[in-house]
Amino acid sequence: ATQPYDSGNIFAKILRGEISAKTVYEDDYALAFHDIAPQAPHHVLVIPKGAYVSWDDLSARASDTEIAGFVRAVGHVAREAGLVGEGYRLLANVGQHGGQEVPHLHVHLFGGEPLGPMLS
Ligand code: 5GP
Repeated sequence: ATQPYDSGNIFAKILRGEISAKTVYEDDYALAFHDIAPQAPHHVLVIPKGAYVSWDDLSARASDTEIAGFVRAVGHVAREAGLVGEGYRLLANVGQHGGQEVPHLHVHLFGGEPLGPMLS
C-alpha cells in the first residue's frame, strides 16, 4: 500500500512557498517548475496541488476533477513549452523500485533533444 503522505517533503514546501522554485505554470490543480538537476535540455516537474504521494495514490484517492485538472495541466505545460511538434517524454517514478525520491507525486517532462529509448 502507498505510504501516508508526509507534508514535510520538499515539494510540499515548494507548494507552501517555503522554498523557491522556477515556476513555469500554476493553476488550481497543479504547479510546474524546472527540475533542479535537469537531465534533458527541457526538464520540468508537474505536481498536483493535492497531497498525493504518487501516481498510485492520486489514481486511488483523488477526485475526478483533481485528476482531470492535473492531467490537463501536464498537457498544457508541454504545449506552452512548444514541445508537441518534436515530441517529449513523461515519466512518473512510483515507490522504491520506481526510484521515487520525493514522496509527492511528480510527472517529469523531458524534451528538447532526441531522448533515446529510456532515461535512467
Ligand atoms: P524522483 O526520483 O523522485 O522521480 O525525482 C525527483 C526529482 O526532483 C529529481 O529529478 C530532482 O532533481 C528533483 N528535485 C529534488 N529536490 C528538488 C528541489 O528542491 N527543487 C527542484 N526544483 N527539484 C528538485
